[in-house]
Amino acid sequence: MRSLIEIPEKMDSLVLHGVGDLRYEQTDTPIPKDGEVLLEIKACGICSSDIPRIFVNGTYHFPTIPGHEFSGRIVAVGGGVDESLLGKRSCVFPMLPCRKCKACLSEEWAQCSGYSYFGSRCDGGFAQYLAVPVWNLVPFSDDLPYEVAALCEPSAVSLHAVNIGGVKQNDNVAVIGTGTIGFLIASFAAKRSQGGRVMICGRSKNKLDYAEKLGFETINISQEDIAAGIKRITGSDGADVVFEAVGSNTAIADSIKAAAALGKVVLVGNPESDLALEKNVYWSVLRKQLTIAGSWNSSYNSRINDWKQAIDMLENGGPELRGLITHTFSMDNARQAFDTIKDRSQFTLKVMFTNSDK
Ligand SMILES: [Zn+2]
Ligand SMILES: [Zn+2]
Repeated sequence: MRSLIEIPEKMDSLVLHGVGDLRYEQTDTPIPKDGEVLLEIKACGICSSDIPRIFVNGTYHFPTIPGHEFSGRIVAVGGGVDESLLGKRSCVFPMLPCRKCKACLSEEWAQCSGYSYFGSRCDGGFAQYLAVPVWNLVPFSDDLPYEVAALCEPSAVSLHAVNIGGVKQNDNVAVIGTGTIGFLIASFAAKRSQGGRVMICGRSKNKLDYAEKLGFETINISQEDIAAGIKRITGSDGADVVFEAVGSNTAIADSIKAAAALGKVVLVGNPESDLALEKNVYWSVLRKQLTIAGSWNSSYNSRINDWKQAIDMLENGGPELRGLITHTFSMDNARQAFDTIKDRSQFTLKVMFTNSDK
């Protein structure tokens, strides 16, 4: 192993020992194997999927270090790894595919049937260091702050959804959901739908106010019927492409109601419970002849690389993407970080753990 710095034997980390039992403690610093680097993690976003993982459902085994949205600096390289990587900044595609199943053979890693995953199936980014295969590295320039680069994972997921939606010029687009993914989808869709309108639909007044500040049209669905809102804004019946980024019964029904005839609905939100549709809503899928598509994770292959595109967009992107990071905490303030996310009265989008320099 070649390293830039003296690697400490122990590191600070947040370890999940059981449901609701996340401890800030010292763990062994991983040692990069052949083909791996040691990443000093500088920023790691808290994903909305981390909340049920930590507080409700747990993960595949305990103890596990959560966190899959991270960026950092390469401080050591294992055997056979190009030493010029030392000191470089990088994000990490968090999936470790089996490379044997049918999906893997066509590089559709997100559909792998036997994968591992940083931050859920194996240790992840709520730590000072992580050993990562070179294959998973998504390097970025020294000019991009680590925090912004840590948005690469949700950005890649959002870009993937926009690609699946096939958003094109002059399309009217409705996004249901005002979380980080909803805002990222709206931003990327706006770049593709020049000439059309992008509408963010939700219930939280402060998030809709923020969406308006970014220049999006908004529909407050606790005050206005979604179809009526789209008519008011676009003058037409329904949006050409609708993204559902909530995962609730109501939001899925709304996304179907929001779609124009022959439109497309892209389902992105993780379901919070079993789902059921009213007969009339289901019927409108048939009558409007909608295309309903699922979107899962991101593409990271030689044909489509959402990660490469996402990091380019973050490097060249406007302040609207950077403004999605509303709070940063050090890992020893984890409780405060999670309390902030759970406090509905606060305006939160992406909450992140950061380690020292930007
Ligand atoms: Zn995530
Ligand atoms: Zn596989």
